[in-house]
Amino acid sequence: MIKEQLLSIQDNLPNHVTLVAVSKLNSVDRVMQAYDAGQRIFGENRVQELLPKYEEMPKDIQWHLIGHLQTNKVKFIAPFISMIHSIDSLKLLIEVNKQAKKLDRKIPVLLQFHVAQEETKFGLTLNDAIEILNSDAYKTMENIQIVGVMGMATFTNDSEEVRNEFKRIKAIFNQLQKDFFSNDLNFKEISMGMSHDYEIAIEEGSTIIRVGSKIFK
Ligand SMILES: *Cc1c(COP(=O)(O)O)cnc(C)c1O
Repeated sequence: MIKEQLLSIQDNLPNHVTLVAVSKLNSVDRVMQAYDAGQRIFGENRVQELLPKYEEMPKDIQWHLIGHLQTNKVKFIAPFISMIHSIDSLKLLIEVNKQAKKLDRKIPVLLQFHVAQEETKFGLTLNDAIEILNSDAYKTMENIQIVGVMGMATFTNDSEEVRNEFKRIKAIFNQLQKDFFSNDLNFKEISMGMSHDYEIAIEEGSTIIRVGSKIFK
């Protein structure tokens, strides 16, 4: 069933949209079913769960960290992580840059924005991001690459609310692109959309969707 679910999502994706298969809470056996069906990009939201999967699973997988990241855990994922979606402070960005530098890597990251109604969700405001991007600390970083933005909509059946929040994320992307990344072609990703709302997210400009339960149900 995992294979069928995965392929039915993949088949309907526009070419410019990348699927991150969110494997959290699923056993290696189950995640391997998605791997065997051709999926190579997987997302986990907790470092403790990501590390054993990284150890056990094939090394051609690209792992994305999609959940809140504590600075003291960065060193464990820095050697192999393909993208960190959840940069929500300058402190975290400084630590990612520091750990990447030790490894002579450049780690692609996304700035996470808080646009949902729920206070439980992490993320920056537009002003927080502007402050980070104007900081001297950021300007000297050589081992991170900010490749775009990430956000989560409110968990609600009100699809107009969800759509408006995705529009807000896209507007933030556009503004940052204009004001800070106009000469940087790497700044192009908008990570938004999960199992219940990825179709709306794609309509509103998503380039990366993070889908878990719809694949691994
Ligand atoms: C769990 C999770 C997802 C996937 O959610 P589903 O509803 O299972 O598709 C996407 N993004 C983040 C940050 C998550 O924690």
